[in-house]
Amino acid sequence: MNFSDMHIHLQDYKQNSATQVVEEALSAGVRCLVCVSSTESDWPRVRELAEKYPQTVTPAFGLHPWYAAAAAAGWPERLRALLMAVPAAMVGECGLDGIKGIGETERQVFKAQVLLAGELQRPLIIHAVKAVTAMEEFWPLLPARFVVHSFNGRAEHLRPILLRGGYVSLSASILKNREAEKIVRLIPENRLLLETDGPYQAPVRGEEQKPVFLPVLLAQTAAWRQMEPARLAERIWANSEEFIHGGKQ
Ligand SMILES: [Zn+2]
Repeated sequence: MNFSDMHIHLQDYKQNSATQVVEEALSAGVRCLVCVSSTESDWPRVRELAEKYPQTVTPAFGLHPWYAAAAAAGWPERLRALLMAVPAAMVGECGLDGIKGIGETERQVFKAQVLLAGELQRPLIIHAVKAVTAMEEFWPLLPARFVVHSFNGRAEHLRPILLRGGYVSLSASILKNREAEKIVRLIPENRLLLETDGPYQAPVRGEEQKPVFLPVLLAQTAAWRQMEPARLAERIWANSEEFIHGGKQ
């Protein structure tokens, strides 16, 4: 089986080296890793890892909502230049987080990234936490390819995502969601993606989450959908290829 980890912060590992994590992932069949930045200071390292593993690591450059307020002046120009220099790169992680607070700055920083992704026709990686109302004005602006990462809302919150043709990526957090089974069954087969969000979201506190967890997540997802794991894995792999490289939209 082939796996794609659609959301991982390789630059944030401390107990393991990024190289170890990638090598271990490859030997477990995780052939694709989307390495996501959170701050501008991540960009050089994310780019370096993508250059080191061009067949495996796809970079994403952006500003996470938690760090939007701390963004240095001129970041939109630097982000644009970087995306132009790295044609395979996606935009993200960006979005809105109602727990940390959604102010005008967070809205503007998100909006600039949404528009840039549309203009450059890049996939967009969205962080949306407790942001149902705040997201409303953004849905119509989203580019053709977007994913809501680590979806852990209510089943009804899938509606605007699916209506716009977006992808839904699940991480270990879904395993604790009371509506998990319902959510997993509501996501169309061609819109489902899996991720670890590593090194974060480890099932064991104090440890680092790693891509080798993906088969566990796949097995549970397949059980909920009453599908053969191998067939679901094949489908999700095709989805990730389509998300990364484009294709039928
Ligand atoms: Zn993340």
